[in-house]
Amino acid sequence: MTKFLITSALPYVNGVKHLGNLAGSLLPADIHARFRRQTGHEVLFLCGTDEHGTPVELAARAEGIPVADYCARQHAIQADIYRRFGLSFDHFSRTSGSANQRLTQEIFQCLDAAGHIEARTIRQAYSPTDARFLPDRYVVGTCPHCGSTNARGDQCETCTRVLDPEDLLSPRSAISGNVDIEFRETRHLFLKLSAFEGDLRRWIASHPEWPLLVRSIALKWLDEGLRDRGITRDLAWGVPGIDRCLAEPRRRPRTGAMAA
Ligand SMILES: [Zn+2]
Repeated sequence: MTKFLITSALPYVNGVKHLGNLAGSLLPADIHARFRRQTGHEVLFLCGTDEHGTPVELAARAEGIPVADYCARQHAIQADIYRRFGLSFDHFSRTSGSANQRLTQEIFQCLDAAGHIEARTIRQAYSPTDARFLPDRYVVGTCPHCGSTNARGDQCETCTRVLDPEDLLSPRSAISGNVDIEFRETRHLFLKLSAFEGDLRRWIASHPEWPLLVRSIALKWLDEGLRDRGITRDLAWGVPGIDRCLAEPRRRPRTGAMAA
């Protein structure tokens, strides 16, 4: 008997999902979980609502209620829908739940202790009209590589290139559509992904049995060069206990005090 941990893309908590979400994401995982159980394997089928990110904050703001209340209500609605469709989750949870928060903090602390996290001051898109910083996907514009006019600040869906919002030509706010985008300084934590390139190449090379498409997409990303990835956002709603690492100065020896 083999043990299988199965999940699917986590549905965003905002809005009620349509049948396409169910059929395209949740149902294949459910079918696979049922098949594995019927063939005698031990299966843990996990899923839950993704309750963090700008879409959730904006949806709560539109309704004029606290994000926590909005998430609790929407989670109950979605969990009930999936239950009535008969999806066979062993556990349907929430990313804002205490277990996931502890796990996130633990992963973060491991990465930080190993020196894979770095605090940096960056320039980020700010929309005076929206009165907020616009994270990655909330800036849209023209892709500098392929010319698509609907590229997002984090990635161009047309040519799949990873982008920075400042790469975009003619940037605009995805929230209001306004074009008076400014780039202001803000402090964030980064996962130093670029340091993993060698290990990842060796890992991919050690798995010749993987599907060709999976290997070629992964190698294409490595060939384009891994870029350090921002893992924090200018949002009030998130996993606590990580922002204290943003305090300045960090990991710089306080030479003045030491010398004294
Ligand atoms: Zn593109």
